[in-house]
Amino acid sequence: MSESADKIRCMACPVLCYIRNGMTGACDRYANHDGALVRVDPHILLKRTLDHEGAVVPFAARGDWHGELVSGDQPFVTAIGAGTTYPDYKPAPFIISAEVDGVDMVTVVTEGIFSYCGVKVKIDTDRHLGGECAVVRADGEPVGHVTTGEYGSQMLSLGGVNHLTHGSKAEGRATCAALLDLCNKKPVELAIDGGATVIVQSGAAPVVNGVREERMRVGCGSASIGMFARQWLGLADEVVVVDDHITGVLSEHQAGKLLGVRETGIRIGGRRSTPGRYFNVAAPGTGWGGTNLSDPLEIVGGFDRGKAWPGLRLFMVSTTGENAAYYELDAALRPVACAMPRALAESAELVKENCEPALCSVLFMGGAGGSLRAGATENPVRLTQSVRDCLTRVTCGGAPVFIWPGGGITFMVDVSLLPDGAFGYVPTPALVAPIEFSMRLDDYRAMGGHMSQMRAIESLGPEHRLLVAAEKRNPWPLLPQGGGA
Ligand code: SF4
Repeated sequence: MSESADKIRCMACPVLCYIRNGMTGACDRYANHDGALVRVDPHILLKRTLDHEGAVVPFAARGDWHGELVSGDQPFVTAIGAGTTYPDYKPAPFIISAEVDGVDMVTVVTEGIFSYCGVKVKIDTDRHLGGECAVVRADGEPVGHVTTGEYGSQMLSLGGVNHLTHGSKAEGRATCAALLDLCNKKPVELAIDGGATVIVQSGAAPVVNGVREERMRVGCGSASIGMFARQWLGLADEVVVVDDHITGVLSEHQAGKLLGVRETGIRIGGRRSTPGRYFNVAAPGTGWGGTNLSDPLEIVGGFDRGKAWPGLRLFMVSTTGENAAYYELDAALRPVACAMPRALAESAELVKENCEPALCSVLFMGGAGGSLRAGATENPVRLTQSVRDCLTRVTCGGAPVFIWPGGGITFMVDVSLLPDGAFGYVPTPALVAPIEFSMRLDDYRAMGGHMSQMRAIESLGPEHRLLVAAEKRNPWPLLPQGGGA
């Protein structure tokens, strides 16, 4: 901090705000309180004992700490609200020593400023949101793209250094704002070029073109035939499970063959992959099974006169069971819509019942660069090596992370495992995310840690700190690697 007349200067990030008394800096994280630079948000400590119904709580709303330390029940000092280090030669804001189960441990705690970061979004829906590589926009600005779809889910890759720093100012701001809200578990409306609009929120169902998605399919059309073939025996002569990717046809499918289902001579559009499995039956869309179909008969190209028969019972269903129709062939072998027999309606319900609730999942992904690692040790690569050797555990706001193989410390974390409001931003623009490195004291010393900056956990005062219950799904960060909660 430096002072100029009635202003003080925050030096916690490259913006270097001058802040008047009673005002906050550009990121709303630091304020001038009677000439002192203070953090606006409290510093969060996690309590292992499961109270507060065993879940993390919004830190602005609940939680308190009176500075007490009960032996054997020490809190975990997170980086949330701990502050950042800038420029990079400074040690991390908190390097905390504590004895855990008779072992001397160190936790290095920093709110990292991530210019290289983004989110991976998994949206449980069959509906077509947009083509691969299609641009995803927030507030009209490009913030990412559609990436490879997964089983029953559409995937978005948002943010990254190019959208944050290489586009226009408006693009950088929109990207940062969208990432911040997504990481803080707030809803964000995204529009996909040539595709749908979708409201995404971690832990909530996606809303596609204004319609809340209910179900994530249990399998593709072919898999559904395999799973439910036995249930349909005797109820229908032919079953087609309509799917944008792999449409299944019971009489041709191996499951139908093994169960002795008679050939029906049905002709299905698209491209036959293997018996009873068809690709490209229709264009992708938000209709039946992620196709653009509202009338499933559009994919039925008729019946072979030598095999089909009048009265043949045809059941068509989507991969989630949300759409279903029943037909019988007339004398000219044309399908005629008929009232759905109760047993078939129940089978559609069974498909639906086997589909899990559709959710959005948001994973923050960031790279702890050399500058951030320098906050832990004077020789940053030693921290990377220590993480690789499983001597140092990395957590994000106390939540476990997945570390990518290869160079650097590039990690992903499920934002639903962090306390609400754990992420911040600076208007460079970049995201501010908590990161903690925990290790044995001996290992910290060996990596060239900032030993002189270490302080005992007992030295932390209660001022501006909140103690909240740890998320019950997370392993306790200070347990040996692989330990349970
Ligand atoms: S943006 Fe925030 S962290 Fe950066 S200098 Fe301004 S007040 Fe400090």
